[in-house]
Amino acid sequence: MATATVKTEDRSRASLPPRGIRDDEPFLTKEELAGTVLAYQPDADRALLLKAYDFAREKHGDQLRQSGDPYYSHPVRVATLLASIRLDQATIMAGLLHDTVEDCDDVDLQMIEDGFGADVAELVDGVTKLGQLEYQSEASKQAENFQKFILATVNDVRVLLVKLADRLHNMRTLHHKKKEESRRRVARETMDLYAPLARRIGLHYVASEMEDIAFRHLNAEARDQILSQLETLESRNKDDLERIRLAIRQVMEREGIECRIKGRRKEPYSIWRKLEKKSISFEDVADIFGFRIIVSDAAECYKALGVFHTEWACLPDRFRDFISVPKPNGYASLHTTVRASGNRLVELQIRTEEMDETAERGVAAHWTYKDSAYGFDLDSSKAAGLDPSANLRAFGDLLTHGGDAEDFLEHAKMEMYRTHVFAFTPNGRLVLLPAGSMPLDFAYAVHTAIGDTCDGAKINGVPRNLRTALQNGDVIEIIRREEPRPVPGYETLCVTGRARAAQRRLRREVEARQFANLGRNMLERALRQHDIDPVSVDMRKISERAGFDGVQVMFEAIGRSHDEVGRILTVAFPGIELEGSAPDEKVMLDDEHASSLIAGENLTPGVTLHLAECCHPIPGDRIVGLRQPDKGLVVHTIYCGKVAQFDDQPEVWVDLQWTELAKSGVRAIGRIAVNAADNKGVMAQQCSVVAQAGGNIRQVATRSRGPGFQELTFDIEVDDLRHLEQIKAALRALAVVERVERIEESEFE
Ligand code: MN
Repeated sequence: MATATVKTEDRSRASLPPRGIRDDEPFLTKEELAGTVLAYQPDADRALLLKAYDFAREKHGDQLRQSGDPYYSHPVRVATLLASIRLDQATIMAGLLHDTVEDCDDVDLQMIEDGFGADVAELVDGVTKLGQLEYQSEASKQAENFQKFILATVNDVRVLLVKLADRLHNMRTLHHKKKEESRRRVARETMDLYAPLARRIGLHYVASEMEDIAFRHLNAEARDQILSQLETLESRNKDDLERIRLAIRQVMEREGIECRIKGRRKEPYSIWRKLEKKSISFEDVADIFGFRIIVSDAAECYKALGVFHTEWACLPDRFRDFISVPKPNGYASLHTTVRASGNRLVELQIRTEEMDETAERGVAAHWTYKDSAYGFDLDSSKAAGLDPSANLRAFGDLLTHGGDAEDFLEHAKMEMYRTHVFAFTPNGRLVLLPAGSMPLDFAYAVHTAIGDTCDGAKINGVPRNLRTALQNGDVIEIIRREEPRPVPGYETLCVTGRARAAQRRLRREVEARQFANLGRNMLERALRQHDIDPVSVDMRKISERAGFDGVQVMFEAIGRSHDEVGRILTVAFPGIELEGSAPDEKVMLDDEHASSLIAGENLTPGVTLHLAECCHPIPGDRIVGLRQPDKGLVVHTIYCGKVAQFDDQPEVWVDLQWTELAKSGVRAIGRIAVNAADNKGVMAQQCSVVAQAGGNIRQVATRSRGPGFQELTFDIEVDDLRHLEQIKAALRALAVVERVERIEESEFE
């Protein structure tokens, strides 16, 4: 694998393919590959490695890469990359087999498991799944979430390492892709997703190479520009650079410190990023020499540092000690910038061989094969100056704690990811939510307008209950209604504060609208009762006089507190005679007002509601809507005989509830049948009982009559079900009354 420290003089503006393994070089034979692995893992199964190589070659058959190479050269190169960071044989085999399940018709996971073991099969499965992820570049937030998603769902880091090796080789051969659009897409994805992931787990040189190639495909002009400026700078600085390299060597020799000195290449992309971010000049970024000083142990690192700081002035704010406080991914080194002779800024990275190894190979550096188990090697990590207690963390832990400086914050954030769930919109946008989130949370996370109109959800294409907890990787499609409306019972249907707050706000808004509608009706009715045409009055003026901040506010106030009507009339029309003509304070439950008094989770917006004539539902009744082709939605009580006829047609049923508004300030008509003795004055007796109980009789009829008895039906205006029950009880208390029942069949007409 290419090293991060390319000697400066080696850097060339070579045309594609980029530096590193060239795809036109011969690739390793199976013997060579097995030999490479056995060199660092002596107990590896040579025969099995050869078998995996042959399997890949045989199964990919005569498939070709776009470069014209046989396809199997790709997995062989991926495996070779993995061997270069000395990964265990299962990972090497996974590298060889990583495309077989996806690309070869006659290969499945079971075959891989039977032939190469469950470990290898799991790795191949993980890599295949990662490959199926649809990444769509959007905001940078999106890329970040995707990285987190991958980290959260990959439970074996080797899967990620195989994927990164796969991607690196694909990048190295990207120029063979015919379509510019797909080259750009892959480059974008690499830039946004895979390079940051590689960096996060400490594979800096992989990240740098990926970025460099991606940069070339995404913005070749900028890259060329930077490269040519770098060349100019370099030739101008050539003598200076050699002089300083020599000075470093002499100082180290004088102090008796044995060391290796590496020049450090400036990556065009990292310069570009700095130029983009800060308003600094190319010279500010690029005109700094970088050297890496490799010494024998940590004590020598500090000794060397002391020597440099004595010899040259250091820039205090550029000094970093990652030896006493290594980065969470294990990176350890001393960083300092000094002003060397000739006023040259020189960046020095001082570290041991082990630290350099960690810097190069990242997490892979201290993961070795020991006692036939692949695990974190405490000894080698200790030797690299890592905190041993930190090394006891699980590998995945170490991995997710990330690579960059803001360690502790990052750590804390990453802790949270375990309690998070990652879901996708149908067009591939990733949404990060707390674990236990439900579709409503998802809807609000995507957009408030989507949450406000959420009416249902499909999860992975299947309609699901809004109560369904989301799983990692779920694709959620929110089914929307036209009008915003709160979801009934939302308190139990979402966990995020955002969704809850939004639903509360929405409910308040809808309620306010309902009260305002009611209030407007009441005021208009009151005006008419006083022979004032509501159309002729200036509502705005009335609201001003009554001290309201707008007409809607006034209407809402009337709706909420019915006493307001009288006050407003008195204020607006001084001298108006309210006595004896007190406006009817209550709104009648009828078809006109039904839509503000009845709500339902699956109610189609704008649908016409009709109160069933048969059962005459009143607030307090359990109600259900029946979809009737020509009538809209007919509201019945759940016990209505008519409803029972539709028992086998659940598709016409709609669950309904009374709104808050319906629970107060409404009058509704309840219909009852009373069986009583056929005595003189019985009807008058009954009417008087109903009136005393606060019921207002709207209609009385004789239903049937037999010898000695009569059955009367009453339409009684009541407040609600409880009120009707009270009236029924009062009627039953009459000696002449035998039986009192609600009428639930349409026999009245
Ligand atoms: Mn591949």
